[in-house]
Amino acid sequence: MYDFIVIGSGLAGSIIAERIANVSHKKVLIIEKKDHVGGNVYDYVDNNGILIHKYGPHIFHTDNKKVWDYISCFTDWNLYQHKVLGYVDGNLIPIPFNLNSMKRVFPKFVYNKLEKKLYEEFGFNIKVPILKLKESNDADLKFLAIYVYEKIFLNYTLKQWGVKPEDIDHSVTGRVPVYISRDDRYFQDKYQGVPKNGYTQTILNILNHKNIKVILNTNMKDVIKINSEKIFFMNEEFNGKLIYTGMIDEFFDYKYGELPYISLKFDFVYQKEEKFQDVGTINYPNDYDFTRITEFKHITGQDIFGTTCIYEYPGMYNKNSKEFNIPYYPVFKQENQHLYNKYSEETKKLKNVFMLGRLAEYKYYDMDDIIERSLNFFELIK
Ligand code: UDP
Repeated sequence: MYDFIVIGSGLAGSIIAERIANVSHKKVLIIEKKDHVGGNVYDYVDNNGILIHKYGPHIFHTDNKKVWDYISCFTDWNLYQHKVLGYVDGNLIPIPFNLNSMKRVFPKFVYNKLEKKLYEEFGFNIKVPILKLKESNDADLKFLAIYVYEKIFLNYTLKQWGVKPEDIDHSVTGRVPVYISRDDRYFQDKYQGVPKNGYTQTILNILNHKNIKVILNTNMKDVIKINSEKIFFMNEEFNGKLIYTGMIDEFFDYKYGELPYISLKFDFVYQKEEKFQDVGTINYPNDYDFTRITEFKHITGQDIFGTTCIYEYPGMYNKNSKEFNIPYYPVFKQENQHLYNKYSEETKKLKNVFMLGRLAEYKYYDMDDIIERSLNFFELIK
């Protein structure tokens, strides 16, 4: 009956299903264990009428026109440009740390010296990862690097990942480099925004095709069995292709052990006031146990009295935990990569099974990366 079975209806699963249905004119069944589509981009209107992102704030940003054009077929946009402030020693300063942040925290003569040295060593409008800045041989730039490292990165990274910045792949802190610029935006991508009617509606639009059927509340392990390269769906042999977007270690019943993931506990706090904070997100690297507070109204542009904020508390993922039982981030370390590679080798032995997405490929993909990856992946399997 179906040509493809897709496990998971997040961005990856939904986009691959849409391509298969629309371009290849083939039939797809999506099996989703949650009671809703959208995976972690799922949003909904809370009891107070505020549109919230259930699994943490998602701001879409990309430099890739192909990706932007594709996703724009399914949504109009609230053209929002994300701004983040960091609460540092009682001051709110722009994050990523930039020349404006530097001006805010140092006396003028110190600022002037550092600004000149930054221009001389790196130039203007240049992004420098903190771990690279720390390697500087210049005493003043080293002083700056240690300041930024200690005030912005060290404790935030300990909270988020449980390790110091140098003990996680350097690309992780490199996502938020020191920016020698006066651009206070969190992202510099050409296209930025959030779907005008929300992510869930966008996913529903993507899935709206007669060749796509979605079943919710269903654990794939209850309906799919894989036996010596053969796939069985509801006890019948399935000769199509299976695309899996969940956790790869779970797929293989943890036969080589569990891959670590970071989970998050969220507190949603509603206040009867117009606005809670001045920007979309405020990071708290050194204070409190949460990493950041995001106020949805800034992001969604919703015009309503009252406001809901989300507080993020990271913790190690544990499938048996009550608070930390949803995996959000693969932990980017060499030993974990080795373990992932073992699972990846197992996948190659299965002729018609494919892994796609953040959890299945154990990669820190952003939303635009996932769209690009799914579009390219379609070309391989269509
Ligand atoms: N980071 C930090 N301090 C900050 C912001 C980010 O130390 O104020 C580090 C931290 O390790 C974090 C990483 O940079 O996990 C990536 O941050 P980003 O905001 O891109 O994370 P995401 O939004 O994906 O959770």
